[in-house]
Formats: sequence, structure tokens, C-alpha cells
Amino acid sequence: MNSAVTPSPPPVLRLDGLRKAYGVGTPLEVEVLHGIDLTLQGGEFAALIGPSGSGKSTLLNLIGLLDTPTRGEIHVQGRPTVDLNDTERTALRGRSLGFVFQFHHLINAFSVIDNVMMPALLGGAKPDAATRERALELLDAVGLAMHAHKRPTELSGGQQQRVAIARALMIRPPILLADEPTGNLDSRAADEVFALFRRFNQSFGCAVLLVTHDPRIAARCDRVLEMLDGRLVADRAQTAQA
Ligand code: ADP
Ligand code: MG
Repeated sequence: MNSAVTPSPPPVLRLDGLRKAYGVGTPLEVEVLHGIDLTLQGGEFAALIGPSGSGKSTLLNLIGLLDTPTRGEIHVQGRPTVDLNDTERTALRGRSLGFVFQFHHLINAFSVIDNVMMPALLGGAKPDAATRERALELLDAVGLAMHAHKRPTELSGGQQQRVAIARALMIRPPILLADEPTGNLDSRAADEVFALFRRFNQSFGCAVLLVTHDPRIAARCDRVLEMLDGRLVADRAQTAQA
């Protein structure tokens, strides 16, 4: 292919020499990521595996712009992020990154649909009929439109996690990050939640980076990244199992 005719888009995510230490400047300073290089293309569906304490959550929090590296650079859609100020960082996060945690962090003072609308409202969208309609479409897509006006705690754990996925997708992020989203679900609820990530990956084309301990889930991803002691020690493409 002639790249002068069809320039390829930048990867959605590129990490260069990413290092992270906690407790910097104290006697307890400890480096937990020792130089991570990684490229994720648009629409890729990757699992991130590795033992507890290997640095998976630390890495995801850096990519999600929830924390800053001690060294290295994170490019989101070709844009360097390390030197952004807090306002710019929040704006980029609101445009480009969806995040689903193991514990969903839904706010029980708000209804389910208000929780789903929240990222869009924080990003400056108006709480108008169009925003509400989009939130309802997403709730419908995760099978929960009939629960839109309930409080999060009225739903099961699996349902709450599906609400969290709808919320993460509200901004149509090109990158969806998930930190053990099925970690506290039974296997049936875990399968349902995983199926949603797959469906949205295919329909919206968002790249997915999903931390999991579950080998069954990792086997269904297109690429498996493996961490050990703060380093990426394996990166393999695979044919996803059905
Ligand atoms: P994983 O998600 O793979 O279980 P983490 O990223 O949570 O791993 O942790 C990686 C290492 O960093 C662990 O040794 C952990 O104890 C340490 N760690 C994580 N968060 C902090 C923190 N806020 N302060 C100090 N050490 C931390
Ligand atoms: Mg973790």
C-alpha cells in the first residue's frame, strides 16, 4: 500500500518507556512499572493479564489519565498527554476514554439513567432530550431500559456493571478501558458483560483494553498482553474463541 495515498491513522494509543513509582521523594519510593512500550490500533480488542501486584491497574490508571507516569509518554490518538495541565487532561479524558472498574462506582443518589448521562454532562453536554435519549438507547443496548429510573442498588451486581458500561460508552470513546470488570460477577453475569464489550467493540469500533484474571475471558480476546513485575513480558495475537 502506498502510504502517500492512504496515510494510516495514528494508533489510538501509544506508550513509550512508561515508568511509574509510588512514594516518590519518600523513603518508601518504589517503582512498579519499569518501562512499558505498547501500541494499540483503533478497534483492537486486547486482554491484559498477569498476577496480582504485577502493575495492571497502575498501567490502566495511567492510560486512563487518572494518574501520571514518572517517566515516559502516553499518546492518545497521536496526541502526547504527559505535559497536559489538569483541565486539558480532563477534557481529553472526557472526549477519548471510557473507563469501567471492577467496582462500578455508580452514584446511588442518582437514578440509573442519570448515572449514564453523567460523563456527557461533565463533558459539557446539556441535560436535554437528545442526551437523555442517547442514554436510554445505551441502557436499551445493555438490556436495562426498563430500569432507567431505579437507583443503582436496586439492581443486581451484573446489572450494575452493565450500567457502568453504558455510562462509559456515553461519550463514544475510541478507547474503552476496563479493570477486571467481571471480577466480582458469577460466570453467567461475567459472560453477559463480556459479550457487551465485544458487541460495542464491533458496533462502535472502540479499541478495548480489558484487565482480567479469567482465562476464559482472555481466550476470547484478539490479543493478549501479559505483565509480570511491572513489565510486559508477552504480547500475542490469537484467534478469539467463540
Ligand atoms: P495489579 O493491578 O496487577 O494487581 P497494581 O497496579 O494494583 O497491580 O499494583 C502494582 C504494585 O504497585 C503492587 O506492588 C502494589 O502494591 C503497588 N501499588 C499500587 N498502588 C499503590 C499506591 N497507591 N502506593 C504504593 N504502592 C502501590
Ligand atoms: Mg488491579
